[in-house]
Amino acid sequence: MVLALSDSGSATYILRMEKTQTDILISGGGVAGMTAAAAFGTAGFNVICVDPTPPITERDADGSDLRSTAFLQPSRDFLEDAGIWSKLDAHASPLQTMRIVDAGGVVNEPRLTRDFDASDISERPFGWNLPNWLLRREMVARLKELPNVDFRPGVGTASVLTRQTEARVSLSDGTLVSARMIIAADGRNSPVRRALGIGAKTTRYGQKALAFAVTHPIPHDGVSTEIHRSGGPFTLVPLPDYNGKPSSAIVWMERGPEARRLYELDATAFNEAISERSCHLFGPLTLASRRTIWPIISQISDSFYGERTALIAEAAHVVPPIGAQGLNMSIGDMRALLDLAQAAPDSLGSPKMLAAYERKRKAEVHARVAGVNLLNRASMMGEQPLRDLRAAGVSALYSMAPVRKTLMQLGLGARG
Ligand SMILES: Cc1cc2nc3c(=O)[nH]c(=O)nc-3n(C[C@H](O)[C@H](O)[C@H](O)COP(=O)(O)OP(=O)(O)OC[C@H]3O[C@@H](n4cnc5c(N)ncnc54)[C@H](O)[C@@H]3O)c2cc1C
Repeated sequence: MVLALSDSGSATYILRMEKTQTDILISGGGVAGMTAAAAFGTAGFNVICVDPTPPITERDADGSDLRSTAFLQPSRDFLEDAGIWSKLDAHASPLQTMRIVDAGGVVNEPRLTRDFDASDISERPFGWNLPNWLLRREMVARLKELPNVDFRPGVGTASVLTRQTEARVSLSDGTLVSARMIIAADGRNSPVRRALGIGAKTTRYGQKALAFAVTHPIPHDGVSTEIHRSGGPFTLVPLPDYNGKPSSAIVWMERGPEARRLYELDATAFNEAISERSCHLFGPLTLASRRTIWPIISQISDSFYGERTALIAEAAHVVPPIGAQGLNMSIGDMRALLDLAQAAPDSLGSPKMLAAYERKRKAEVHARVAGVNLLNRASMMGEQPLRDLRAAGVSALYSMAPVRKTLMQLGLGARG
């Protein structure tokens, strides 16, 4: 018999039918949690991964995640080691060029276009773009191949009790798991982070992002295009052709009420709005999926660890979707944690290991959150003089070749 805390905080006694031991309990089986499960499982650790919401693995199913993720070079290497990349490779769209377009003049048309070409700094593309629903499908398939990974969709973390030597997690199906380490990958409202009493600092922008797919007559040629006017960036990221037509994933960030209005437009009016906002760079755009809408915040956890627990991904940090930093930073967390675990497997989850994890991640994550915050605020600017200043800034930075290359390397994950 164990003591668990109910939602109201009152003590409840629950009879246990099953007690399981594992090296790592991952709370959260989103894209980050499943990646962590594959990585630690491939490295030989015993892993249980739980999530109350089973992954949706079909594009057109209700509730499917229509965002896409651009995995930058270092993330691809990590996914290769985790045995995931070989399943994704055939579906990935390489991103060779990042194009920044400023359309912040009085008239909505491109007044400044600057290309960042991956060949300036590398023989490989900047990254590879994949739809999130497909990531989930292939990650589920990878987890099934690993006998030491027990993925339990439909089951969540109910309560957490940590001791110096282990963490005891009770699950929503009544199972009790004893783990040497918890990885909290249970999102921006992380129940594990809350259970451990770790706070987080949140910045709200009053902004939302619409995410959807489109087709267009003019091919994207592997160019990811970010168009700035006001309210936030409008970004098109290459996808493989859809129904025989060039296709892109779009993230359109706008102030909340405007985003909501756009979300509710009928398809014809929406097609007109997106074609106009894209400055017709790819010809008329046609909506080719449902629309999804996401609140935009920045957030950073006060600590990246608690007793026997490491916080990763959105449980530790959230950024607006600019420059493909979110999940790529999360993979940086996993890499740091896995390196430490492999260097001293007997110390898995020890205070020393977890403190070292935070030391490895905190400065970089803080710098990236601050950088993305700045870019987002610059892109939101509405007043004409500020928009003119923004265009001048992009132009000046771009014209200095060493600065341009450093920015590209930083964007890929090189440390500053
Ligand atoms: C519009 C948009 C576009 C983006 N584009 C990119 C991009 O191009 N590149 C990039 O790197 N990043 C991108 N990001 C960021 C990226 O999508 C996120 O970093 C990533 O999805 C977050 O993953 P996560 O697994 O941390 O959180 P989530 O996806 O929120 O997963 C958390 C999981 O925890 C589960 N959970 C909740 N409660 C419990 C519980 N009690 N027990 C167990 N599990 C629980 C939830 O069900 C959920 O599945 C984008 C974000 C947005 C909003």
